[in-house]
Formats: sequence, C-alpha cells, structure tokens
Amino acid sequence: MYPRLNIDLTKLKENLNAVSKITKQQGGCSMMIVTKGLCAEPGLANLLLSHPEVDFIADSRIQNIKTFAGCGKKTALLRLPMASEISDVVRYVDLSFNSELATIRLLDQEAERQGKVHDILLMIDLGDLREGIFYQDEDQIFAAVEECLASKHIRFYGVGVNLTCYGAVIPKEDNLSVLVETARKIEEKFKIQLKMVSGGNSSSIYLAERGELPKGINNLRLGEAFLLGNDTAYGTRLPGTVDDALILEAQIIELKHKRSLPIGEIGVDAFGQRPVYEDRGVIKRAILAIGKQDTDPESMIPLDKKIDILGASSDHLILDVSKSDRDYKVGDVISFRLGYSGMLKCATSRYVEKGYL
Ligand SMILES: *Cc1c(COP(=O)(O)O)cnc(C)c1O
Repeated sequence: MYPRLNIDLTKLKENLNAVSKITKQQGGCSMMIVTKGLCAEPGLANLLLSHPEVDFIADSRIQNIKTFAGCGKKTALLRLPMASEISDVVRYVDLSFNSELATIRLLDQEAERQGKVHDILLMIDLGDLREGIFYQDEDQIFAAVEECLASKHIRFYGVGVNLTCYGAVIPKEDNLSVLVETARKIEEKFKIQLKMVSGGNSSSIYLAERGELPKGINNLRLGEAFLLGNDTAYGTRLPGTVDDALILEAQIIELKHKRSLPIGEIGVDAFGQRPVYEDRGVIKRAILAIGKQDTDPESMIPLDKKIDILGASSDHLILDVSKSDRDYKVGDVISFRLGYSGMLKCATSRYVEKGYL
C-alpha cells in the first residue's frame, strides 16, 4: 500500500558511522542518538542498539522511550517531564532533562517510591529561549543544583543546552563556552565533577567537524544529522552522510491536462490560506494520494527533478509533471526525499506505511 516511507537501514548505518566519527573522534564527545524524527521505529531502534558507538538513545516522548527500556543502552528523555508522566519517567528513563524544581521534587519522591536513583541533566538557556534556566540567573542555577544534591534519589548528572530550535540561535564558541563556564562554576561551588556537559543538537556538530567545539563540551545529541545527514546550523551536508536514507513514495490517482489557474472568485483554501497561483497555461498535472495529514509539501523533494509541487490539501498533493521526461500514468509511484518536517509528519501519520530496505 502507498503512501510508503522506505527506510534504508544500510544508508542510516553509514550516516551513523559518519556522525559518530565527527562527534567522537573529532569532537571528543559522547553521542546521544535522537529517535523522535522517526517515532522510534523498531528497525531504527535495532540499528542503534547494535551500534557500539551509540552511548544514549534519546527521545522527547515517553511512549517512544518505553519501547527500548531495558535494551542495554542508556535512555534519555529530551523534553522536560510532565507532572502526569513522572512514574513512567522514573521507570523507563535513565536520564531526564529538567529546569523546574517542582518537577525535580516529584522525580525524587517517585524514585524513592520505586527504590531508584534518577539522573538529571539541568538545562541552561543560552538565549534560544526554549527550555532551561537563563544563564544569567546564576542564583536559580545554583539553587537547582543544591536541590538535586540534597535529594537522596536524584543524581545530578550535568548541564545541557538546546539551541536553534525556537530562537534559531546558532551554537558558536562564544555561547557554548558560557555553558562550559557555568559547568565549571557549579563544580567549584559544590566541589563536584559533572559527568555531562551536553552542547546541543544537530546544529552543534559542525563545530566538532571544524575542530571548534569549546573544550569541556563532552556530549552531543543528534537526530537530523544522523537521519538526513544535515548540519542544521548552516544547512550543509555532513561529510560521509547521505540525504536519501528515507524515501517517501506516493501513488498517482489522477493524471490530466488542466489549466493552472482556478476558475471563479478566490477565497481561502482548506487551511485558511489565500493561495497565489502562477499561470503556467495548460499543464499535465498529477494528483497523488497523500496530503498535509501525512506530510509537509514544503519539505519534500521529488527525485525526478523535472517535477514541481504545486500545492496540497489534507489528502491530495498536486504536481506539475509537464516537463518530466517520463510518461507518467495513473497508478505510477513518485518518490521524494524529505526534509525534517516532512519526515516528522510521515513518521507520525498512521496512513503512511513504513518499510525497510
Ligand atoms: C529534538 C531534540 C534534539 C535533536 O535535535 P536534532 O536537530 O534532530 O538533532 C536534541 N535535543 C533536544 C532537547 C531535542 O528536543
């Protein structure tokens, strides 16, 4: 059945080897591989579990982490825990990311109940303005560390930062070295040694590749770099990676010559947008049985370079195939590479079948 997301495990393994080489050999970091981009697909999980260079498997969703609990690798929860998921977090997660004392207290109480010690990474906000205690609020940072150290069932594991997600701030020597400084201040003040200083996601790996990762950063968390081969700071391809390990296939359900301008007064489309149409005259158009419920039309690239994506509704994708060298027919299948948003939606849609190569 189509639509279908084909996952090439051989290519993903190549990517894993490539990002591991950059992260570990060039960057001197431990490596957390992030599975949320593919909703922790079982085949992907097996690849990661059998790969010796993967130190942690991480995801933002507890439902995904549950599926590889007890698998032999350490697990990390990337999104700050909800109060309503605390017991699962303590049960299935080795290391959770935190920024709220109230949540840390809940974790401590629950860990006591389960007879466990739970590891915590304290998130520091260096200006991207998503999660974390703002780096200038040192009193709050120290208070959180103090609370962790005083909690019998919590182990203070280290600090981390997330960048380029909300504020699109790019990791550099100047902001990442603030994280290292914060770590040093905590170590001095409390006479402890941090196990982890996690320097960010796929937007930080370019620094490791250039040998510019500030000394003291000892972990990176990689999703997109591994799945799609992207350095997400500047959008370049990481050496040794491929961008076609994931291929989306969808089937043509209508193929007709039609004009490119709609007829009648133009209101708003199914998503409340006022569309703008380019007059291409009469064109050969294909409708594919896939839509915005399953993918992001802005985040898919046809392998046939002579195809243009014109638009989409919930269940239909409209293509201009006039210039293609191929003589498409109803029932033919068209293939696409994906960007991050396209991948996320395809992986999440239960209408997109997942297959392995
Ligand atoms: C999603 C996420 C990552 C992975 O991001 P990529 O850009 O896919 O590498 C890392 N850390 C946190 C906190 C995340 O939420």
